[in-house]
Amino acid sequence: MAVRITDECIDCSACEVECPNDAIYSAGEPWELDGEEHAAISDEHTYIAPDRCTECVGFHDEPQCIPVCPSEAIEKDPDHEETQEELQAKKAKLDEILGR
Ligand code: SF4
Ligand code: SF4
Repeated sequence: MAVRITDECIDCSACEVECPNDAIYSAGEPWELDGEEHAAISDEHTYIAPDRCTECVGFHDEPQCIPVCPSEAIEKDPDHEETQEELQAKKAKLDEILGR
């Protein structure tokens, strides 16, 4: 499943640089994929675009954003449950779209 950021976030940006999929956006910033812009998922705090989050599958064994968060504000997102296979397929689709 994708991970999400809770209200505990203090907008320190530490997680943003860790994400191999550029899935983490600042509050109010539109997220983008395949040339399409989408409305911000949160205007209150830094957020994760689930369509870009593979839980780091394809890059690392564990999500990289969770351990760097000083507020323990990042958790598994029960609204976006995905199997390992689905996450691998998402990573492959992102590879294609992002040309990597
Ligand atoms: S789990 Fe990985 S892919 Fe998902 S937001 Fe965190 S760093 Fe990015
Ligand atoms: S590392 Fe944690 S507190 Fe900092 S921006 Fe990310 S979610 Fe928010």
